[in-house]
Formats: sequence, structure tokens, C-alpha cells
Amino acid sequence: MHRSEESATDTGWVQRDAAVVWHGFTQMATFDSNSPVIVDHADGHYLVDVDGRRYLDAISSLWVTTLGHNVSELDNAVRAQLDLVAHTTLLGNGNRIVIELSEALAKVVPLDGPHFLYASDGASAVEQALKIAFQFWTNQGIHGRHRYLAFGGAYHGDTVGGISVGAGGFGTDIFDPLRFDVLRAPDFSDSRCFEIATQLIEENRDSLAAVIIEPLVQGAAGMQLCSPTDLARLEAACQANNVLLIADEVAVGFGRTGTLFACEQAGLRPDLLCLGKGITGGYLPMAATVANDRVYKEFLGADLGERTFYHGHSYSGNALAAAVALRHLSLIHEWKVLENVVERGVELGEKLAARVATLPGVRAVRRCGLMTGVELAPPSQGLRWGRKVTAACVTRGVLIRPLGDVIVLMPPLTVTSSEIDTIVATLATAISEVCT
Ligand SMILES: *Cc1c(COP(=O)(O)O)cnc(C)c1O
Repeated sequence: MHRSEESATDTGWVQRDAAVVWHGFTQMATFDSNSPVIVDHADGHYLVDVDGRRYLDAISSLWVTTLGHNVSELDNAVRAQLDLVAHTTLLGNGNRIVIELSEALAKVVPLDGPHFLYASDGASAVEQALKIAFQFWTNQGIHGRHRYLAFGGAYHGDTVGGISVGAGGFGTDIFDPLRFDVLRAPDFSDSRCFEIATQLIEENRDSLAAVIIEPLVQGAAGMQLCSPTDLARLEAACQANNVLLIADEVAVGFGRTGTLFACEQAGLRPDLLCLGKGITGGYLPMAATVANDRVYKEFLGADLGERTFYHGHSYSGNALAAAVALRHLSLIHEWKVLENVVERGVELGEKLAARVATLPGVRAVRRCGLMTGVELAPPSQGLRWGRKVTAACVTRGVLIRPLGDVIVLMPPLTVTSSEIDTIVATLATAISEVCT
């Protein structure tokens, strides 16, 4: 590159971005007028933009970062694997680091006899689970089991299968003609939702392949919570009616709720488990569909036969991702990360109760572990309070992103007390400024 070209491109990152990058869930015609942060590098829990401004990453880079950025142990795990190999296919062949990761995960996932089918995104993990659940019945010669039961408010990713079991909203209603038919229980905010789900399972037991649920917290619904007791009831209904249970722990998994997996808090042992987001500590794209032994063994049969699961992704079981995921799992233990989630979670809850929940513009605060939603109560539609409050926080150096009028706080699992202070103080100021 010539010197003159270099200096001409030193500035105007937002314009350069808008000229060539298409951002998800983002209207590109107005992208540049919404003051996007263009990250240059990270510094622990902070992100530093191209102009040197610092932002506390209070949404964990959309719920994936767990131990912060530039964690030297994780950096080194990637570097060490680079000296071996970056990626080899898992179709028909194996890779040592993937075996080691799967063995380590097998010890901690809440399934009996777990088997790991890897993918690169949470949506693909869900897609795999849906297809496995369907074929599980077909492989046994049981036909007509092609429906799924999902909950209102559910979010399971953005592939066509994912949006079908997902509840819609966020502008995805335009895809309604593509969605396959799903039995829908009410959302978690309806106190009868598990009662109705149980009834739907009983009535449709012969056409249901599986029930899919986000255990404890529906993240994208704005942190809607359910109780461990309700989850246990749902599991009992699935067992009584011989329907598979899929737990989508893409958001809640890897410590976000205070236990390594949310299922643990309800003693839930699903047939299929979807993992993603935090699995690599937020370093590299990796997801997994975990099947229990009961499901897995129905796929065993003749070589090249019909019982095989004919599905696979090019980057399934990427070795760099596996190496960082394995180190990440050991760090969660070594650093006693789950204890910090519980302690900082309580602290966050207390501080929000004292300084934010009492503000007139706030309707509710919902929290499980460090997953938190602050629901605003705009007096009329179209005020865009969510967007304005988060923008006011970003201006003050705390990076957050709303879900409509719910302010999401999803700090890294290693967040400190003083960072909790900063987040709550900044949010309180922003809400007082905007919500009048
Ligand atoms: C984020 C999310 C997904 C989709 O994961 P991607 O990696 O974004 O495809 C699926 N389910 C839940 C519960 C999620 O929060």
C-alpha cells in the first residue's frame, strides 16, 4: 500500500464499514448515524475503539465472552494448537484435541452417556438437534413424529429451523411463510405456561418428535425466567408421554446462570443439549449438539445404511476452537468462576434494586446469575427508550445493547465489584436522563 493511500484510510472507519460490511439485525441505511463502535482491540473486560475510547463490555460481545478478552491462558491454547494443526475434518476421521475436549465435556454435561456432534453456531446446534429428534423416531420405524413443541418468547437462532421453533418478533415475522408448524405453549410470563405445555404434550404425544426449551432463562425474550420446579414438571411430562426433550443452553450454558449448565439447577437430564456461545470463552465459533445414549444408539446400523445421521458442517470440530474450549473449561474450574457469578450476581441484583428498579421509567428487573434484563416502561409507543438508554451508556463508556425496551446486562463471568458499580451507576444515570 502506498503511503498516501494509507493516510487516506486512517480515518472514516464507519464509512468504510458501511461501504462493504452488512451487519446482522442492523438497518444499514442508518448504521452510520447510530454512532457504531468500531473496535480496534481489547484490554481485559474493556474494548478500545479505533479512536482510542474505552468501553466496558457489559454484554460480553453479545453473550459469548466469559472470562474477558485477551486471556493469556486462552491465547496460549490457540497458539499451541496452531503449531499442531488448525483444522481437519471430522467427517469419517478424528482429531486428538476434539477427543480430549469431548472427554472433558462428557464429565460435566447433564446427560447420560453423552455424544458430541459439533457445529459452528448455536443455530446449527439447534438445527442438528431438531433433525436428530425427528430421525430418532424414524430409525425405529415410528412415523408421524415430525412436530415440535416450543414456548412463546423462545429464541433458538436464525436458520429456518431455528426461527420455526423460535417465537418470532425482532422483524422476523416476514419469514412466517417459511416457518414449519410448531405447537406453541405460552411464554414464561404466563403462569400457566407449563400446565398448558403438559396438556399439549399429552394431547399430541403421537405426533411430537421433541419439546425444545431454554432452561431457566429465555434470553432473547428479554430475560424471562422460569423456575426449576417448572422445568422438572416439563421433564416428567416428556418422560410420561415418551417425547424427547431438547435443552437449548446456547445462552445459559457455561456458567451464565451460576451453575455450569442451567439444567443442573432443576436436576434436568435432557435427551439433547445444544451448546454454543460461551463454549470457547467467546474466542472462536463453535457449537455442539449433545445426544444421550438412548438417542445415539438408534443411529447405529450398517455402514452406508439409512440409520446414519447424514448431516455435517465443514468446520465441525475445528481444532483451534476445540483447544481453546478445552482450556476454557479448565479455567472455569481453576479460577472458581462460578462462585464469582453467584456473588457478583447477587451484588448486581442488590445494586439494581437500590438504584435502578426504583426509577419511574423502570417496569421490572429480572436476573438469573449474571443474565439480567431491566425492562423499561415507556408511556407510549415509538419513544425508543431502549435504544436511547443504551446509547447514553455507550457515550459514558459502558457498551450495552437493548432488546427492544429491555436493557440487557450480561457482563463477563469474571466481572469485578467495581465494574458492577460502574455498570449500575452508568445505567441509572442514563435512565434518569432519557426516561422522563
Ligand atoms: C444465541 C442463541 C442461539 C443461536 O446461536 P448463534 O450462535 O447466534 O447461531 C440459539 N439459542 C439460544 C438460546 C441463543 O441465545
